[in-house]
Amino acid sequence: MSSGKRSVAQNMPFEGNSIDSRKPLEGKCFGSMPFPDWFVAGNFFSISRNTESSMSTLLIQNGTLATLGENNRILTDHSLLVENELIKKIAPTEEMRDQTADTVIDAKGQLVLPGFINAHTHFYSAFSRGLGKVPPSKNFVEVLENLWWRLDRLLTPEDCYYSALVSCIDAVKHGTTTLIDHHASEGHVRGTLELIEKAVLETGLRGSLCFELTDRDGPQVAQDGIDENVEFIRAKKRDQSSRIKALFGLHAAFTINNDTLEKAVAAARELDVGFHIHTAEDQADQDHSLKTHGIRVVERLHKFGVLGPQTICAHCIHVDEAEMDLLAETDTIGMHLPQSNLNNAVGVADVVKLIDKGILYGLGTDSMTNNLLEEARVALWAQHISKSNPSVGFMEVWNALLVNNSKILSRYWDENIGTLEEGSLADIVLMDYYPPTPFDENSFIGHMCFGVAHSSARTTIASGKVLMRDHQLIGIDEERIAARARELSQALWDRF
Ligand SMILES: [Zn+2]
Repeated sequence: MSSGKRSVAQNMPFEGNSIDSRKPLEGKCFGSMPFPDWFVAGNFFSISRNTESSMSTLLIQNGTLATLGENNRILTDHSLLVENELIKKIAPTEEMRDQTADTVIDAKGQLVLPGFINAHTHFYSAFSRGLGKVPPSKNFVEVLENLWWRLDRLLTPEDCYYSALVSCIDAVKHGTTTLIDHHASEGHVRGTLELIEKAVLETGLRGSLCFELTDRDGPQVAQDGIDENVEFIRAKKRDQSSRIKALFGLHAAFTINNDTLEKAVAAARELDVGFHIHTAEDQADQDHSLKTHGIRVVERLHKFGVLGPQTICAHCIHVDEAEMDLLAETDTIGMHLPQSNLNNAVGVADVVKLIDKGILYGLGTDSMTNNLLEEARVALWAQHISKSNPSVGFMEVWNALLVNNSKILSRYWDENIGTLEEGSLADIVLMDYYPPTPFDENSFIGHMCFGVAHSSARTTIASGKVLMRDHQLIGIDEERIAARARELSQALWDRF
């Protein structure tokens, strides 16, 4: 176990850092300290995406558009004009033949979709890929104890920044343009959300961030968790950025005692912000709650005032009927994370029942992937096997991704995200796809599940800016970022 509280200064300079022209950001701070030397904006980015640039236009021609939204429309041979960060006009290509733009993309043979939304992930887990030192775990709590709680204590601020960078680059490559992250680095709490925000902004994406408050590392780390959430939420409320939002992060009911929960709710109430918490992911969460508090997990969260339309309860696998009713009555958001659940052998959420109850239930990846189509496919197979029924859950799991995730974002952003409509934010993915069977609104989800899911994102656009074109990242030096990430992850593995 790490002693936890090393200062940023003690971690500098980073030996072996071959990055040139390192300059600290002027006027910025890292918690209460200046940003460390390694933290340099623009180093890997030949295009700055931190600030709104002057007016620009982008025209996508000759594409097949799927608008998504409540009334998904398939528009063949259409063009789409983007002005600055918004979709300005959608019309048949013929009608827009004379339209000019700063950038023109020919989308012939491509399906044009809103950028995918990953509604629950953990950037910090990126450096666990290939880590072989983890002892075998017999259950979910041992997975946490043997891997995640050890790893998150050892992350340095630089690890937090680079794990977010590599995760965001991976998202761009999979056409995922908005991510709701849940961050943990219990050995270095303060200032980390600001570093992650920079990574999201530099890669051109959109995100909602939070720090996972927990009592598992003692009262000081818990207080730091509250302070980190509060400070970041306050900053986001002030700057009204359309790119980054904040939630109040809570790890899970079974690692937060009543005093800490009370403090967190009081702070969040003052800031008028919702929570993001793992909820009944494993039966162990319920067992702990019943034994320690005499009530079930969702009942306890409700009693303390955690639930509500701004709050995300991730998983909701081991919830009973009354808990589902509570989530529905309070209009709390639920989140499905099937690949993680199968990997951890914790069970499969009853997606159909949760949605039938009226819960807004979205889809995330829990950092298993940034390919949301892969996640939705697994979600479907998991429903089939859990119900021994090959016909259950088709519309529910695909709507979680293609409709509900967009509705979830509308609770945090004023702008429309996740639909191709005039006035929506221009977050767009182009995928190579010539439909080999009839392709319309009725067959659309079948094509997504069994065809488009095997294609790959060709071009990714967020806020009207092209982040990847014809599989080439634009203005992002992935090779050098990955090289530094490998150095840092090796050092992390050595400490593990
Ligand atoms: Zn998670």
